[in-house]
Amino acid sequence: MTTASPRPDMKRNASPYLHGKEAAAVTRVLESGQYGHTAVTEEFEQRIAEFLGVSDAVAVTSGTAALHTALLAARVGAGDEVVVPSMTFCATVQAILAVGATPRFIEINPSTLCVDHQLVLDAVNANTVAVLPVLFGGRAVDLGPIQCELQERGISVIEDAAHAFGSYNGARRVGATGALTCFSFGPIKNLTCGQGGMVIPRTQKEADTMRRLRLLGVTQSQRERANRTCYQVDSFGLRYQLSAINAAIGLAQLDHFEDTVHTRRHQWRTYRELLRHLRGVTLVDVGLETAVPHLCQIRVPRRDQVFTEMRAHGVGVGVHYPPNHLQPAFAAWRRALPVTEQAGRQILSLPFHQHLTDDDINHVVAALGQAVETARAAQ
Ligand SMILES: *Cc1c(COP(=O)(O)O)cnc(C)c1O
Repeated sequence: MTTASPRPDMKRNASPYLHGKEAAAVTRVLESGQYGHTAVTEEFEQRIAEFLGVSDAVAVTSGTAALHTALLAARVGAGDEVVVPSMTFCATVQAILAVGATPRFIEINPSTLCVDHQLVLDAVNANTVAVLPVLFGGRAVDLGPIQCELQERGISVIEDAAHAFGSYNGARRVGATGALTCFSFGPIKNLTCGQGGMVIPRTQKEADTMRRLRLLGVTQSQRERANRTCYQVDSFGLRYQLSAINAAIGLAQLDHFEDTVHTRRHQWRTYRELLRHLRGVTLVDVGLETAVPHLCQIRVPRRDQVFTEMRAHGVGVGVHYPPNHLQPAFAAWRRALPVTEQAGRQILSLPFHQHLTDDDINHVVAALGQAVETARAAQ
């Protein structure tokens, strides 16, 4: 006997949202007997490229694999420096270390939690080979004003757009601006494959390199290999392909992406409206006109007490993210980043996923108001 599981509500900080056709799509792939990189994966690549308005997209295992593959394709390696905000998920930094490069952690704009062109320009130096902006919460980062200068200095822009699938940068979709762009389709991202990632290449050569990398350096397709006694390994490579099982989930999700955009924007707007009336709480602006929001983040004094109080009342708050320059693994590249450190003490992510109703959001904001009062009184 099975019992229906309860709807994921505000107890969860994040949750995947299924539109209805995903399970059938997975079943079709399971029954086909081919679970590797298949025509389903390639259909997903084409559909994502069409959606973004670009000529090509390269599917990989995860967002982390997308970043790693993109850095390799941009020829970032040992001794190179990559300018990156400390305020990101640790995966961004691990991908830089994976190619043997070093992170140069930089500050963020405190109101958006994103880097801006001036912060990037101040940080680049003779060792910089790449800049890795993080599109925090779904907000696009416009490096247009320094694009020419970066290009002249041979510095690549590799975007961590794990939060920003569907968002616009001006009139163009994120992914269609000419940067080497990396998406994640992990469990709780705007679009999910269960697990998956995608890189938008800048050139055909980059696309070819990444297609070799993701299949262990082997150039022949599975179909070609089936008819031969031999296969050829042409380069370094990893097992980074996107399984047809995961691609099928992504295809089913993409059919309903308009609903995702509508729901996430509505939810974010609802939070914004209600949070207006709370004293001492600042909403981190995602730029809703162009963003598909991934997070609803606030800054609040006495964050740790507010967090504990809300958790005790069953509200699934979270923290995205503890700054990376303070992590033990990245201590070698630690430097003083006061703006990031202050943000690290104040940020709080409210429950944000497509199952939430207006009532849930009302409840979260009411609980937040109480938690803020309780934390203040306890001082
Ligand atoms: C999720 C995420 C990643 C990594 O993506 P995975 O698919 O989980 O490997 C990288 N950067 C940021 C900012 C993320 O949120």
